[in-house]
Amino acid sequence: MIPYKLIRKGNCKRLRIRIRQGEVIVTSPYYESDERITQFLKENQEWIVNQLNIQQSSLLKDGDTISVFGKPYTICISHTCLVKDTTFYIRHQKDFELCTTFLSENLLEPLVKDILRQVKLNDIKVQYKPFKSKWGSFNARTNTMKLNSYLIYTSKAFAISVILHECAHYYEMNHSKRFYDILESWLPDYKKIQSPYKHFTFPQIQ
Ligand SMILES: [Zn+2]
Repeated sequence: MIPYKLIRKGNCKRLRIRIRQGEVIVTSPYYESDERITQFLKENQEWIVNQLNIQQSSLLKDGDTISVFGKPYTICISHTCLVKDTTFYIRHQKDFELCTTFLSENLLEPLVKDILRQVKLNDIKVQYKPFKSKWGSFNARTNTMKLNSYLIYTSKAFAISVILHECAHYYEMNHSKRFYDILESWLPDYKKIQSPYKHFTFPQIQ
């Protein structure tokens, strides 16, 4: 039996399993019996194990492969910090972040330029940072967009959706209906493109 954390909630209508940073979390209504919860975990065991594997694989070690916009790159634990061809030569997590930001500037810059031109917001300044909890931000006062350098480990379509999201904040700071009207006028499939990345685990060096 896989170890799990149980959370009972009054406003919860059905059993639910989530995986967060390698931990299995079960949310349950108050009335559900322990037997039913155990049974539910058994029924979903395959899915749980798969999810744990996916999250585990985001902990990278020497020789592992990581996809950069769909192109395989190799992790090489070394005594330097550089990206050459399709290899990250790094010592630790900090180097990985530096290389990620370096690569993101190269790979995201052409996308950003193209998008800013298309939505006619050429004067927006753009910075790339290895954020841990957000994909991007927009500061209207400084007219600056910050993009998460880890976007290079998602897909180009997703990166475009994030860039457009931040562009829409130029017109509307809040996530109001007007905000989504603007965003979806540029990208009707916005929500569909975003949904697979809701629980994305940022890659890390083990
Ligand atoms: Zn936003």
